[in-house]
Amino acid sequence: MNVITIERKILEKNEDLAKLNRETFKQKNIFVLDLLSSPGSGKTSILEKTLETISKQVGIAVIEGDVQTDNDAQRIAKHNVPVVQIITMGGCHLDAQLVRNAMDSLPLDEIQLLFIENVGNLVCPAEFDLGEHEKVVILSTTEGDDKPLKYPAAFRNARTCILNKTDLLPHVDFSVEDFKKNALKINPNLTLFEMSAKTGEGIEAWTDWLTQKIKNG
Ligand code: MG
Ligand code: ZN
Repeated sequence: MNVITIERKILEKNEDLAKLNRETFKQKNIFVLDLLSSPGSGKTSILEKTLETISKQVGIAVIEGDVQTDNDAQRIAKHNVPVVQIITMGGCHLDAQLVRNAMDSLPLDEIQLLFIENVGNLVCPAEFDLGEHEKVVILSTTEGDDKPLKYPAAFRNARTCILNKTDLLPHVDFSVEDFKKNALKINPNLTLFEMSAKTGEGIEAWTDWLTQKIKNG
């Protein structure tokens, strides 16, 4: 089974590079989050709201992973924080090498918090360690509340989960209770946040958590 062997080699090499990234982040005292979700769950909107709320108190930078276009990086750049765009040209996940290359363009001595917005995909980004402290999995209320059961690796490998677009709950067929049950069934240790990046509802609990994490660094 050649395919399996090759895949294992790729992941092993990635582990080594992720270790290097992690050492650099530790040296520079930077808290790093890898954001995972399907396309359209609102990763970029959550980042924008987060920047609006805390980018004056905390040095933040963003690495944007996209299959095509730098639209999201342009949205982030409007908030006057350092941002690096990685365009994967069809590639469906970021890996530790891509992140390492992007780090070269960031003022690492000036930042305390780095967000890596992964390519919109709940499958393979879950398997690739980038050297981050935590993976954050994001789901929106326009998706199925059974998604944790369908994409267990993403929910198992994340430590934190955000339910976004809570403003739409009255209009969609989404049970928050079932979602929580499903998510905690896959990963009982998940820290859960509910928010609407659009209205700002719930954003404070998230940004308080972030600033606490940075303080505890
Ligand atoms: Mg995006
Ligand atoms: Zn992939």
